[in-house]
Amino acid sequence: MPEPLDPRTRELADSLAAVRQRLDAAVAAAGRRTGDVDLLVVTKFFPAADVERLISLGARQFGESREPEASRKIDELRACEANRDQRAASEIGSGAVAFDMIGSVQSKKAGSVAGWARAVHSVDREKIVTALGRAAATALAEARRREPLEILIQISLDGDPTRGGATEDEWPAIAELVKESEALRLRGVMAIAPIDGGADRWMAEAARVHQRFLADHPEATTLSTGMSGDLEEAVQHGSTCVRVGTAILGKRPLLSQ
Ligand SMILES: *Cc1c(COP(=O)(O)O)cnc(C)c1O
Repeated sequence: MPEPLDPRTRELADSLAAVRQRLDAAVAAAGRRTGDVDLLVVTKFFPAADVERLISLGARQFGESREPEASRKIDELRACEANRDQRAASEIGSGAVAFDMIGSVQSKKAGSVAGWARAVHSVDREKIVTALGRAAATALAEARRREPLEILIQISLDGDPTRGGATEDEWPAIAELVKESEALRLRGVMAIAPIDGGADRWMAEAARVHQRFLADHPEATTLSTGMSGDLEEAVQHGSTCVRVGTAILGKRPLLSQ
């Protein structure tokens, strides 16, 4: 007899299933293929126990946005190996479960991020590329990671520098710098739709920028756009990775908004 699910696991099972359904429907409506769009479950501000529950429900890719919260949570998950949930821990250890950094990175945190992140989605200045390149090279040399660190350049859709993201005159140089490092791999672009103006318009703009980017960097195939509120528009306009938090885990504490 399978054990009955605890209430939180049941809640997460329902919301994860609902988001997967939304994603499948959006992929079908866009005439795209199932499996074209990765679901990154954003677990920032939620405990390691929720990540474990989501792994038991089949989620394999997670997004975190802050240090040291992320390192601590992932250390806690890895420590599971020594105690109760062998299965969750061995999947984390084997790399079957991936954690991406989706929040802005400070140079002094590059070392710890390079220790756990598969990818960084939020690279928007040359200085952080240099710091991550150095940190990833060290982590590879010390066998704290096995693969180069994947880099997505966060692009600004409305040119407002206060909200993060590189503008069109900045991202070409950032991309070249990523390609100079053997410890980094250019994977694509990430964008967040501004609040005003309509998700459809911004997602179309993100897709246009990505197409221009691909002309120079054909290997950078990932388009990371779409969150709880706009994943349908993102998928319609070619997103290959949606980052969904609230619709799966519930509201974050007010402090985080
Ligand atoms: C928090 C966050 C998300 C998830 O947003 P929801 O609206 O909760 O789905 C996605 N992307 C980034 C960069 C975030 O910081």
